[in-house]
Amino acid sequence: VTPRLLGPAEIRDLAQLLDVTPTKKLGQNFVHDANTVRRIVQTAGVERGETVLEIGPGLGSLTLGLLEAGASVIAVEIDRRLAEQLPHTVRIMQPGTELHVVHDDALRVTELPGEPVRLVANLPYNVSVPVLLHLLVHFPSLRSGIVMVQAEVGHRLAAEPGSKIYGAPSVKAAWYGRWRIAGQVSRMVFWPVPNVDSVLVGFERADVPGTEAERIATFAIIDAAFQQRRKMLRQALSGVLGGSSAAATSVLARAGIAPESRGEQLTMDDFLRIARAAR
Ligand code: SAM
Repeated sequence: VTPRLLGPAEIRDLAQLLDVTPTKKLGQNFVHDANTVRRIVQTAGVERGETVLEIGPGLGSLTLGLLEAGASVIAVEIDRRLAEQLPHTVRIMQPGTELHVVHDDALRVTELPGEPVRLVANLPYNVSVPVLLHLLVHFPSLRSGIVMVQAEVGHRLAAEPGSKIYGAPSVKAAWYGRWRIAGQVSRMVFWPVPNVDSVLVGFERADVPGTEAERIATFAIIDAAFQQRRKMLRQALSGVLGGSSAAATSVLARAGIAPESRGEQLTMDDFLRIARAAR
């Protein structure tokens, strides 16, 4: 019988067939463990018949898991060889399922052949946060998701104000909804084995708290605050709030934020209030 998911033997055979040497630059670490794939699909709560967006399907490990669960999958892959092979792999291993492959850079894609409601992906490590933010801006149909990212990045996305790892990604992510750690994944389920372990991060979208213009202004303030995270806000934000520490102090006062505080203490709503006070 033809297996329905990719194990170590299938991963090896496919890589050999395509003459693929996984590259670090594209974060190519392929999952060769069917149990991990089924756990991700289950954690994501994928429902039969729904449209799921996958970024970086690679050799198809997770794609096949999503199709097995009855999802219709839109998969965006930057590597041409992988994008071209995927429909063949799916036709052999899971005929009769619905897959659309888009050969493109997930950081640039602005149109998809469908309206995905859920994101499920094992993201390329070096671009995981920019990819997530890009997708959340451009695809409002995405209501929730589960992504696998390197552990440090995942904990940062889900961090609360005041914690050591709370940073720009944590605040920006919070603009779009709630984030949580949904599980750990050992590095041993990947080929090649990466240097770090991974986590599953879940998000549920909430209504955005402001307009798109306010988001852009807020994100610029967040970036400035965390570029100099050890400095007090009246100094760190002087460049983006009027050009001097005095000007920044008066904006912060209008927003009800102590000018001596630091970015790591503020919530996303605090940053939005600063952006509104600066107008
Ligand atoms: N989903 C597969 C799995 O779980 O085995 C592969 C995951 S691998 C960590 C990341 C995948 O993302 C690779 O297939 C890589 O080619 C692809 N990728 C890297 N950068 C990308 C980008 N900017 N846009 C789309 N795909 C990208």
